[in-house]
Amino acid sequence: MAYDDSNIFARILRGELPCKRILENDHALAFHDINPLTPAHALVIPKGAYVSMADFGAKASNEEIAGFFRAVAETAEQLGVAESGYRLLANAGPDAHQEVPHFHVHIFGGARLGPMLPKATR
Ligand code: 5GP
Repeated sequence: MAYDDSNIFARILRGELPCKRILENDHALAFHDINPLTPAHALVIPKGAYVSMADFGAKASNEEIAGFFRAVAETAEQLGVAESGYRLLANAGPDAHQEVPHFHVHIFGGARLGPMLPKATR
């Protein structure tokens, strides 16, 4: 899938839309999800134009990848869930119901999250 720079997260990165920022480094931005599903629900996005984890892993520099994953860990710290526990989730493509075509990791925490997912079938 080609990157579409009109997506919501690209617009947040350009400052065209607001976000509740948690932290930022040279390569990543973390902010609160607009529709939180758990008491703590953050999104971490790379600043570069990548559609998915596969796109990011294939094309991003080592510095971008390190900066991104450091931001994920630091965001969990900032949210206060690093000790109590949290779940990372990255949706990719239609089966995963990815809504925003800019690579992002969700961080869920602040509550007992239960088993991973309801069992899914075709
Ligand atoms: P996806 O299904 O693509 O993994 O999740 C996209 C997430 O982005 C959803 O959890 C949704 O609530 C969140 N989201 C969509 N639009 C906005 C927005 O304008 N601001 C913020 N902060 N989150 C958004």
